[in-house]
Amino acid sequence: MSESDGTVLVITPHPDDAEGGAGGSIAKWVKEGRKVVLVVCTNGDKGTSDRTLTPKRLAEIREKEQAEAAKVLGIAEVVYLRQPDQGLEDTAEFREKLVRQIRKHAPSTVVTVDPDRPYIRHRDHYMCGRVTLDAVFPYSRDHLAFPEHGEDGLEPHKVREVLLFRPEDPDMYIDITETFDLKMDALYRHASQMGSPREVGEQRSRDRAAEVGKQAGVELAEGFKRIEIWR
Ligand SMILES: [Zn+2]
Repeated sequence: MSESDGTVLVITPHPDDAEGGAGGSIAKWVKEGRKVVLVVCTNGDKGTSDRTLTPKRLAEIREKEQAEAAKVLGIAEVVYLRQPDQGLEDTAEFREKLVRQIRKHAPSTVVTVDPDRPYIRHRDHYMCGRVTLDAVFPYSRDHLAFPEHGEDGLEPHKVREVLLFRPEDPDMYIDITETFDLKMDALYRHASQMGSPREVGEQRSRDRAAEVGKQAGVELAEGFKRIEIWR
């Protein structure tokens, strides 16, 4: 468990990534009194095998699902950046959007997906994790980076730590034994993304959380790679 308190800003590529990767931890932080804000970078409009669904309709459905899931976890606010699905790129425009959210919400903890997967990885996940890390350091810190933010009353901000979910080699574990059910309730609000019946998917998630929990000496856990930036 992190010793930090204050706001947690979760930045994810698609609707449903936050619940799958860190939903139990998010519910726990909320129960501990921390404010959690979620930034969803893409509109998820390519996430279906249903050929009758238009991308526009899918994006609407997924936004609604995300809002419901966030409510289950107790997330205070969801920000939709509505970038194209499978279209995240390492650009100044995308970086600016993330720096803006970091400066606006002034989190002590930023949570995002581990970008550092070898060979096969979802490009949006790589871009989201990579650009979030860049946005945290050094861009959010330096007042001369995106100085136009000053005109909107946004101050430079130092994030204390970044937690990467689903890393290859976790070095920090959060006990989600008490919040696993909430995680599942939230995850299954993303009905358009759930390929298998709930009892099958839930057992798979429980097995994974138990495997991670073994390393942490608890029943169920989520694992993170923790990067401390400021003490
Ligand atoms: Zn995703």
